Amino acid sequence: MKQAKFGTRSIWAGEKEQLAFGATQVPVVHSVSFGYDNMDEWYEVAIGNKEGHIYGRNTNPTVEAFENKIRDLEGAEAATSFSTGMAAISNTLSTFLAPGDRVVSIKDTYGGTNKIFTEFLPRMNVDVELCETADHEAIEAEVEKGCKVLYLETPTNPTVKITDIERMAKAGKAQGAIVIVDNTFATPVNQNPLDLGVDLVIHSATKFLGGHADALGGALVGSKELVEKVYHYREINGATLDPMAAYLLLRGMKTLKLRVDQQNKNAQEIAEYLKTFDLVEDVFYPGLEDHKNHDIAKKQMRGFGGMLSFAVKGGVETVRDFLPELQFANRAANLGAVETIVGPSRTTSHVECTPEERAAMGIPEGLIRYSAGIEDIEDLKADLKQAFAKVEEKASQKS
Ligand SMILES: *Cc1c(COP(=O)(O)O)cnc(C)c1O
Repeated sequence: MKQAKFGTRSIWAGEKEQLAFGATQVPVVHSVSFGYDNMDEWYEVAIGNKEGHIYGRNTNPTVEAFENKIRDLEGAEAATSFSTGMAAISNTLSTFLAPGDRVVSIKDTYGGTNKIFTEFLPRMNVDVELCETADHEAIEAEVEKGCKVLYLETPTNPTVKITDIERMAKAGKAQGAIVIVDNTFATPVNQNPLDLGVDLVIHSATKFLGGHADALGGALVGSKELVEKVYHYREINGATLDPMAAYLLLRGMKTLKLRVDQQNKNAQEIAEYLKTFDLVEDVFYPGLEDHKNHDIAKKQMRGFGGMLSFAVKGGVETVRDFLPELQFANRAANLGAVETIVGPSRTTSHVECTPEERAAMGIPEGLIRYSAGIEDIEDLKADLKQAFAKVEEKASQKS
């Protein structure tokens, strides 16, 4: 569906091949296995000479529709799927890394990814080098020492740092490394890393792709050669996407463009609005001109995304008073849903770190992560205003 535009493809891509009985919607195929009366046909499907399904851990029609949609939206040759975003990340890294190999990444990856780098890969004798996230020279210097995999995430969680994908892809390719980008925060609406030269793109479909905070899933897209290797690892190791989750994610993806366009707009306006409050110390959003790498973001993103974060004066205490006052926000660990979601970084993405570690990563104790929903912006702004007013009122009573 290359000829149609993104919004059209997000609705139509990947579905037609899986329709049955004249239904206009992809069915949820709840069948563990697929039967064959013809032994020769069964054999041909089993060895991959003929299209078809054998066993639900390997492939499933509903899951295949999800894979084909995300493949189309990222402009990739091939796609495979997983039970969660973390399964996509761990299975991909496990496919390509063996004892003695070296992987270069950044300090600001998603908390779970960071645990793979600091806890599990070293245990397998994989050498892990984590660089300052926005320090391109440092990453290039480590890549030049040689590495099997260069793993990136941009924008990052929670301080939305930006890495130059095209520049890093070039550096990685020069060393023959497999370059991987976690595109969860940007979504394919705003950024297509494959077009910027990377080999593989990963998504936690749990977030913006599904968009309704009701299904877990993960995806990997890239060349057929690389994706098939990871698919093989996944089909044997078993982190398969469930057909019901695949259906919910598919349904969510039909409105991906509508939702993310609105989230881009809301996040930009909220980021600018937050700067007008005395209680706000700092606002992080790649769409702000004073963001450290606003220029790189402008170059590689079509929109700046729905994620931002801000630091409040008074640290943890202000956070404790402020967050419960918000009426139109879930206080939760998730992100990328239609509802606005807020949470303190010390409780959500970086709960495993000590205050000192968080400080070293540039995460103040009073940092709040804000995942803009698709609500009317006037209501979101009024909500922030009344919540800040309540905190100030409480503070004046104390003094
Ligand atoms: C949530 C998230 C993940 C992990 O996804 P799960 O579906 O929760 O396993 C990975 N990367 C990023 C950037 C995320 O936000």
